[in-house]
Amino acid sequence: MEKSKRDWTIISFIWGYHLLLLVGLPFYLMHYSVSWPMWVMSFVLLYVAGMSVTAGYHRLYSHSTYKTNLWVQGVLLFFASIATQGSALKWSYDHRRHHAFVDSDEDPYSISKGFWFAHILWLFRKTKPIEKKVVADLYRNPLVMFQHKYYGLCMVVSNVIMSLIIGYALNDYLGAFVISWLVRMFFLHHFTWFINSLAHTWGAQPFSKEHSAVDSYVLCLLTFGEGYHNYHHTFAGDYRNGIKWYHFDPTKWLIWTLSKLKLASGLKRTTPLQIREKMILEGKEELSAKLKNYWDENKAHLEASVEKISAEILAKVSRFQELTSQYRDVKKDPQGHDLVHKMKDEIKSLQRDIQLDWKSWKKLYKNIENLKPSLAQK
Ligand SMILES: [Zn+2]
Ligand SMILES: [Zn+2]
Repeated sequence: MEKSKRDWTIISFIWGYHLLLLVGLPFYLMHYSVSWPMWVMSFVLLYVAGMSVTAGYHRLYSHSTYKTNLWVQGVLLFFASIATQGSALKWSYDHRRHHAFVDSDEDPYSISKGFWFAHILWLFRKTKPIEKKVVADLYRNPLVMFQHKYYGLCMVVSNVIMSLIIGYALNDYLGAFVISWLVRMFFLHHFTWFINSLAHTWGAQPFSKEHSAVDSYVLCLLTFGEGYHNYHHTFAGDYRNGIKWYHFDPTKWLIWTLSKLKLASGLKRTTPLQIREKMILEGKEELSAKLKNYWDENKAHLEASVEKISAEILAKVSRFQELTSQYRDVKKDPQGHDLVHKMKDEIKSLQRDIQLDWKSWKKLYKNIENLKPSLAQK
C-alpha cells in the first residue's frame, strides 16, 4: 500500500478501539459484572443500528428499492450513524461502485484483492472522492446531505445519546459505554464487513456465477438478511435479499411492515419469471460451454435438449409477459368480459407449461453438471 494513500484517521480509529477492547475489556469484565439487561439492550441496539444500515444505507439509498418519507429516513439515518460506517452518501457511492465493477480493480472492496482486503484493509486506503453523477439522486436529498456534512457530529452525538439512555435506564454509565457502544460497535462492524468478505467467499451460487457473490444462510443470521448475496448481486433492484417467505431476511420484513403501515411505498420485486429467465440465459451458456469440453455418446442429444428446452421456456416467458400486460388493459375495458376469461385461461395454462419446462430444465442442468470427468475428451 502506498504511504500517501493511507487514511490515518480511519486506521487510528479502527485499530485504536480494537486495541482498547483487547486490553480494556478483560480488565473491565474482571472488575465489573455486566447485567443481563445490559447485554439485551446492547444486542437490541446492535440490531436496530445494523438494520438501519441495511434498510437505509443499502436497500433505500444505494439501490432505491423502495420509497419512504423524511421522518422514517431521519430515524434510519440517526441509527445508521450509530453504526459508525461513514455517511450514507459515501457508503452508497462505494456500494454502487462495488456493484458496477464487482471483482475488478475499480471495485472498492474487491474480493479479488484478498479476503482481508475486502473485509477491513480497503478501509485503510483513501478511496476515490465522490463523483456526483454516481449519487446525483442522493445529492438532492436534504437529510442525506445534512448527515454527510456533519457526519462526525452525527456519529458521536447519536452514540452519546444512546449510551446515556442505556446508562440511565440501567444505572450503569460505564457499562453502557463499554458494552453498548464499544463491544456493540466491534460486532456490528465485523458483521457488516462479513458481507464484503465472507459473502463473496463462502457459500452457494444458485442464481449467477458471473460474480463472486454467494448465498450463505449462516451469514444471514449475522447480517440482518444480507447473506443472500448471490441473489442480491444478480437482482440488486429487489427490496428483498431472501426471496422465500421463510428466508431469514429481517430487513425485508421491516420494509414490508413499513409498507403495511403506509410508511413505505413502491417496493420493487423481481418476479419469479424474471428470475427464471435470467437463470436460463446464464445456464444455457454455462451448459453449452461445459458440453463443448466433454465427449459422450449423448452429447449431441444433450446439446439439442439445452437449446430446445431453453428456447421453449424463454418463448413462453416472453408470451406470458406480453399476455399479462394485454390482460391488464383488457380488464379495464367494460366490453372485454369474454376476452378477459379467455386470456385468464391462457395465462394459467402458460404458467403450468412453464412450470413443467422448468422442472425438465432443472433435471437437464443437474445431469450435465454431474457429467463425470471420465467422459472428458481424450
Ligand atoms: Zn457484494
Ligand atoms: Zn448492494
